[in-house]
Amino acid sequence: MNERQRAVAKLRYAANRAIDGPYKDFAAQIEAIILERARTAPDGTKRLDAASVAAIRAELRKRLLKLSGALTLTIRDHISDAEDLAIEQFKATNPPEIPDTSRDNALTVTAIGLLVIGALERSLTQVDRVLTGAVASGVEAEIPAGRITLFFDSTFSPIRNAAGEIIRAGKAEAIASWPAASGMGSSGVRLIANHEINTANGSQAIILAQRAEGYGILWELSPGHAQFDECDFKSTDDSGLGPGIYSPFDVPEYPSHVGCQCILTTVQLDRAEAAA
Ligand SMILES: [Zn+2]
Repeated sequence: MNERQRAVAKLRYAANRAIDGPYKDFAAQIEAIILERARTAPDGTKRLDAASVAAIRAELRKRLLKLSGALTLTIRDHISDAEDLAIEQFKATNPPEIPDTSRDNALTVTAIGLLVIGALERSLTQVDRVLTGAVASGVEAEIPAGRITLFFDSTFSPIRNAAGEIIRAGKAEAIASWPAASGMGSSGVRLIANHEINTANGSQAIILAQRAEGYGILWELSPGHAQFDECDFKSTDDSGLGPGIYSPFDVPEYPSHVGCQCILTTVQLDRAEAAA
């Protein structure tokens, strides 16, 4: 892994660490929310019925929407860092001037917020399946409560370090059955964070190269690139400037796909040609 790839991977790692906190706090409240609204059966145990599930869902939804604010700002901060990183990398090539890109941010807080809310709604759908399953089977309310807590508990969510290696792969006692596999309640939000951090960095590089004289874009695969896809071609195709190097006005469609983690950076074209 080269320096450019490591720098972006470090930002993704930092964002994932920052996402852990709000989810941990949320997971800690779930059991109380569910048991408080469960019906007490004649034998004194707590069970779920349609009415308690509706009340639980409404309360969880309310708290998740609140959570969306904190998550959105966390992601936005790391996107800004990713844009700054592209500028730092560009500065390191000693360009005669740095174009002003302050008004070019691809995503606003509103747009990120809508993505985050969409992901939270999808995680609620999983929660619904666990709750309605508990009504159907008539198990004690502690069972779905524990399961949904694990679903949102960020300590069960896989996390990669700056080198792209999984350093937290979940724990042995985690429930891995679908729906609501442990730790996966935050996976949609993590996908958004990883994707947007990456593409903010690459998009910023394209804008900088377009506004500066004599710059191109170098397209590189991420160290975590596992499956052969169009990104393999884009990182090796030679448009005449060298493998994976493009005029900033002629960069292939980027990002290639959701979750594309390709690294795009500015390169000086005369230097790139000399090296080719
Ligand atoms: Zn890609």
